[in-house]
Amino acid sequence: MNTAAADPRSLIACPNCDLLHNQTPVATGERIRCARCGTTLASSRYNAIDRTLAAAVANAILIAGALFFPFIKLEGAGTLQSATLIDAISAFGGGLTAPLVLVVAAFIVIIPFMRASALVYTLWPLRFGRAPYQGAAQAFRFANALKPWSMAEIFIIGVVVALVKIAGMAQVSLGPAFWMLVALVLVLLLENHNFCRWTIWQILGKHTRA
Ligand SMILES: [Zn+2]
Repeated sequence: MNTAAADPRSLIACPNCDLLHNQTPVATGERIRCARCGTTLASSRYNAIDRTLAAAVANAILIAGALFFPFIKLEGAGTLQSATLIDAISAFGGGLTAPLVLVVAAFIVIIPFMRASALVYTLWPLRFGRAPYQGAAQAFRFANALKPWSMAEIFIIGVVVALVKIAGMAQVSLGPAFWMLVALVLVLLLENHNFCRWTIWQILGKHTRA
């Protein structure tokens, strides 16, 4: 039997279904998918770095922008109310429920923003063929650990459900911040499609081993 197959560095496990594959080089612009479930196992350096970096920069800009523009406008019973995302988050409560506001803000704004920043920090120098910044491996591990806690997309679904309910009671118009969050959800979907943890670890590993 082939003894090279026993070297763990020559194997890639599917992150979704754990099927082991032998590592093969990836051509520029191409990707390798799991033979069983189709999850991306590795994509070329071009795909992994350029697209993930572009998505992370777009994420950070959209999150920051969404904080400063009106989120929704409500018109009913002769009054017009405009709310920003911060108003919407703080509407969850004050006083005893203040910690809840913090948790909601963390899931929607702080964690996605920190994750995007950590990805930019990791990938920016690699994009230009330079050595990674100090602590890039920790930053990348941090970004991966934050991923399940980044919930901007769940928030948007919740907002849409709530809007359907209040649409009968008041005239609702959506502000730029709402559309920025919708764009954020689309960018996150694109990022997931192109994100290749394995390829980025390979590139980071090459620099730290040298
Ligand atoms: Zn799989």
